[in-house]
Amino acid sequence: MENIISTLQQQLGSEKVLTGAAVKARFHHIWHTDQPLTAKAVLLPDSTEDMAQIMQICHKYEQPVVVHGGLTGLVGGTETQSHDIVISTEQLSNIEEVDEKSRTMTVQAGVILQQIQEAAKEKDLLFPLNFGAKGTAQIGGIISTNAGGLRVFRYGMTRNLVLGLEAVLPDGTVISSMKKIIKDNSGYDLKQLFIGSEGTLGIITKAVLKLTEAPQSRNSAFIGINDYDNVIRLLKYMDKGLAGTLSGYELIWNSTYRTMTSPSTSSKPPLSYDYKYYVLLESLGSDYEKDRQQLEQLLEHTLTEGIIQDAVLANSAADLQWFWTIREDVHVLVSQCTYDHHFDISIPIPLIETVVDSIIAELAGIEEIECIFPFGHIADGNVHFIIGRPTKEEAIIKKINDIVYAPLKKIGGSVSAEHGVGLHKKSFLSLCRTPAEIQLMKTLKQTLDPKHILNRGRII
Ligand SMILES: Cc1cc2nc3c(=O)[nH]c(=O)nc-3n(C[C@H](O)[C@H](O)[C@H](O)COP(=O)(O)OP(=O)(O)OC[C@H]3O[C@@H](n4cnc5c(N)ncnc54)[C@H](O)[C@@H]3O)c2cc1C
Repeated sequence: MENIISTLQQQLGSEKVLTGAAVKARFHHIWHTDQPLTAKAVLLPDSTEDMAQIMQICHKYEQPVVVHGGLTGLVGGTETQSHDIVISTEQLSNIEEVDEKSRTMTVQAGVILQQIQEAAKEKDLLFPLNFGAKGTAQIGGIISTNAGGLRVFRYGMTRNLVLGLEAVLPDGTVISSMKKIIKDNSGYDLKQLFIGSEGTLGIITKAVLKLTEAPQSRNSAFIGINDYDNVIRLLKYMDKGLAGTLSGYELIWNSTYRTMTSPSTSSKPPLSYDYKYYVLLESLGSDYEKDRQQLEQLLEHTLTEGIIQDAVLANSAADLQWFWTIREDVHVLVSQCTYDHHFDISIPIPLIETVVDSIIAELAGIEEIECIFPFGHIADGNVHFIIGRPTKEEAIIKKINDIVYAPLKKIGGSVSAEHGVGLHKKSFLSLCRTPAEIQLMKTLKQTLDPKHILNRGRII
């Protein structure tokens, strides 16, 4: 019988089909570069045509495939087994066009977020999506996980930033709608099937991204607050006072802030360790001096009113870099854990303090836990926890999961605010989606991928 590897080599050229040691030299996640990749082969398509051909062949052979983008995902979506073939999008790395008049950028799936941000900036435009993994995450992976990040509050999730999309279905059919238009109610919005479905329904090969005019000023402040009600009061006050320019509002709990700015890191603390909460906010506006003055006045007012206890503004580009490195470099937290256990939950904003406090109190009852680091995109109701444990023991993992996820169903929360479900959160899906919703997801999967070859077992 014809061998799938030789068929792929014949069709694509052997330089695009890695096997043996070349596979083992790779890994499934940027945080696990010491673990050699397990897979039958790694394919390196450099065009949509290649991708379509690959999927036609894999469909014919009923060959399971796993898509690899930048390998920064946090739910195990890129983990593989020995019988899988990996399709890496790294060669799909072209920015095809920046259209200043339509304010769009057309990109292949393997372009890295930071390159997109820089290409937009060159034309005095902004691609607002921003998060810690921007130097590695690829736009295909970002779209397939509908990533959120640090500016969702103002600009929305990735979903809100995609105008056109091209994807290859599990049988190799190319679905292309690379339009630059904002409005298109001509039937189903099919691109939404691929945005946030974690590569289970199709492989994204290209996208048209929505850009906005670049802000001319960026201001940030670190703020110390002792009372959660005042965290919400400050959010509302700043949102109103800054009249549309508030773009980021991150909350860091005291224990997390201490670790993020401990002497072992490269970041010194901008504020003392005296406060229960630290807010890092960002405003993007049009006039640096005016915007800064306005932010300063608003902060002074909240200080006088006793809403906040302390604040420090970034005075330079270096300060901005300093402040945001503290928030973005979560590897500092991961490095404190023997095994790091990540959570990314959604909680209605008014309930965050109570829910987080009760989770922390319950976790304190598990003797083995090494550390608990809560922080999050609080204006979106999104709390992250990184929890350190000394073991991979299933019983402890279960205990931690049960504690963190237990309150979510009752309060209408979500087990995944932005990272997705992947393999790691599958068994908790029913805590935030109804049986009818899950059944519809299964029906969609069955319809588009009846042989279950694409990112098998993810989400459902
Ligand atoms: C330090 C750090 C900070 C982060 N911060 C945030 C944050 O603030 N907000 C947030 O939302 N996320 C955050 N993330 C996680 C985020 O989901 C990923 O960084 C990103 O969205 C995935 O992009 P990637 O290219 O790395 O995809 P990968 O990790 O390679 O893949 C992720 C999933 O998408 C699939 N996939 C990849 N490419 C494609 C494609 N072209 N077509 C179809 N499926 C594909 C994969 O099979 C996998 O299931 C963070 C991660 C890190 C490491």
